[in-house]
Amino acid sequence: MIKIKLAVLGHLPYLIDISKIIKWKSCLFEIEREVGKYPITTDSDGPDWSYSDSNLVSIIPQRNSEDILIVITNVPLEGNYFARRFSDNRVCLTYHEMVDILTIYNISLENLILRVLYSISILYKRYRNRIPTRHEPTNFAHDETRGCLYDMCGIKTDIIHSLNKPQLCDDCVHDITHNENPRIDRSIIDKVQIELKKIHKERYYQILDFVKRRPVFTLILSTIITIVLGAVGSVLAAILLEYWK
Ligand SMILES: [Zn+2]
Repeated sequence: MIKIKLAVLGHLPYLIDISKIIKWKSCLFEIEREVGKYPITTDSDGPDWSYSDSNLVSIIPQRNSEDILIVITNVPLEGNYFARRFSDNRVCLTYHEMVDILTIYNISLENLILRVLYSISILYKRYRNRIPTRHEPTNFAHDETRGCLYDMCGIKTDIIHSLNKPQLCDDCVHDITHNENPRIDRSIIDKVQIELKKIHKERYYQILDFVKRRPVFTLILSTIITIVLGAVGSVLAAILLEYWK
């Protein structure tokens, strides 16, 4: 089981339910209950008020006994990425711009952290219990958007497809499980796929999406329900009237 610690870097001006993340049950990882909190002690040094990797690495905390440290912040990262990998199994995730995308598409803010937890954990296993730094040549992400944990999301808004019931696509599953030395058992991957389906929009927004996809069916269904309720009401009224007489 991979041990992961979360830490917040600087001020997060949004309501993110960290307790929902800590309570999340996975066959792949467990999250430490205590969440670190660290101030941002430097100013932006990159274009568009971003924080360069060298700047961030000077202020993100060191890893302790946990296997992976995930630092959550709100400042823009180098290259306008939403997550950056650092040395010693540390990852920094930002809500900069992401919060706008998530809000527009009615996706819970916590889903972004959960997605990163799974993608980073599997990456950790793929690279034999370590996270490759951003300087290493890697090919685990694909440019095509498939609703997969390893979508590159070069167009940032594409992230929405892997934040509502994400998956591991067939190619990624093949890469992980069919190498000469498989990094993760197929049975674990199957369990992970089931867990990933639990990362979804809230029920209300799922219903809204259904109505948008099938408006005629919804209209017919609501008409039938209205007629049935009207008929039931009439019968009940007749029974009550008879009873009072
Ligand atoms: Zn994939």
